[in-house]
Amino acid sequence: MNSFLGLEVYYNIPLSLFTTFRIGGKAKILAIAHNKNELIKIISIAREKKLPFLIIGQGSNLLFSDEGFDGLVIINKSKEFKWKSKDLIEIESGITLEELFYYTWRRGLSGIEYLAGIPGTVGGAVRGNAGAYGHSIGELVREVKLLGQKGNINAIPASEVKFSYRNSTFKQGNFIGEVIVSVTLQLKPALDKIKLLKVREMDLQRRATSLPSLPSAGCIFKNPIICDTCKRQEIAIFLNVKEEELFKDNKMSVGKVIELLELKGKQIGDAMVSNLHGNFIVNCGKASASEIKELIFFIREEVKKQLDILLELEIEIFPPPKFNSL
Ligand SMILES: Cc1cc2nc3c(=O)[nH]c(=O)nc-3n(C[C@H](O)[C@H](O)[C@H](O)COP(=O)(O)OP(=O)(O)OC[C@H]3O[C@@H](n4cnc5c(N)ncnc54)[C@H](O)[C@@H]3O)c2cc1C
Repeated sequence: MNSFLGLEVYYNIPLSLFTTFRIGGKAKILAIAHNKNELIKIISIAREKKLPFLIIGQGSNLLFSDEGFDGLVIINKSKEFKWKSKDLIEIESGITLEELFYYTWRRGLSGIEYLAGIPGTVGGAVRGNAGAYGHSIGELVREVKLLGQKGNINAIPASEVKFSYRNSTFKQGNFIGEVIVSVTLQLKPALDKIKLLKVREMDLQRRATSLPSLPSAGCIFKNPIICDTCKRQEIAIFLNVKEEELFKDNKMSVGKVIELLELKGKQIGDAMVSNLHGNFIVNCGKASASEIKELIFFIREEVKKQLDILLELEIEIFPPPKFNSL
């Protein structure tokens, strides 16, 4: 470890150490922001020196290339929070969803129990509108504070932020690439605190039995929304499965499709389509980012060929891949 202006900084350090995939080449520079002030200081230095930078939380929704990142990667560990009223909490973006669940649960508030098993930070979750069981974090957001170009903080009300399925204005739209410093969430009084813990427990159990334990980055692809009834029926007939087994609220389960196309277990090097969940690719040992990408390309091509559907990525790849070759 090195110290630069009092900051914890590393040079040429493997990004595999900071991602749940356990994959990624070296970051030229990596800095840990232990609090909001450090986060602001690091980003000000990067901007001043015109150094490309990327902020990450738990690294649970991304794939870095084998070449790594020729710039500054910032690990966000800013974790302060304050109650603005009895059910309105402002949390810094480095807080994990797990930590957030316990802060709100202790106060007898519900809203986070369906999200707590997602292994990410609030910043990553808001950018990607993370969710589970038909709920997503965007539903709770009342305000987002972004870091301005001059180190100032800009408060953006929820009315100016758009959330959609695994997407937000911060991923695609007005505020793309902005740094989320903190988020204000509106929660609801819980009728029964024990019930909240039970929901959480059931989620943990479901995740333990239905999701792979090998390193991954969660679901690789978004479940495509198919509104055309005929197309849905056509796909179900082609895959020889009941429509309701494949579609929920017009969303097609990519995991199920991959299973029905018999792609589970498909392996390229140490990258493998999980046998437990078709929409997960796991790192069986020493998978490279190239192997993961090759497998992603393969699945995408197969689904396009067989169902004429182009799958969209849920994970983020750095640098973004060129899919034009498909
Ligand atoms: C086993 C497993 C299960 C999962 N289950 C689910 C699930 O049920 N539902 C779901 O939605 N997701 C799931 N995921 C995916 C992932 O956990 C979520 O997308 C999570 O919200 C990502 O948060 P993160 O902090 O890890 O973000 P990272 O992966 O670190 O970053 C993701 C993106 O957000 C950006 N970002 C991070 N912090 C900030 C910030 N402060 N400001 C601006 N941009 C920022 C990064 O630059 C990057 O572009 C799962 C992943 C795994 C490994």
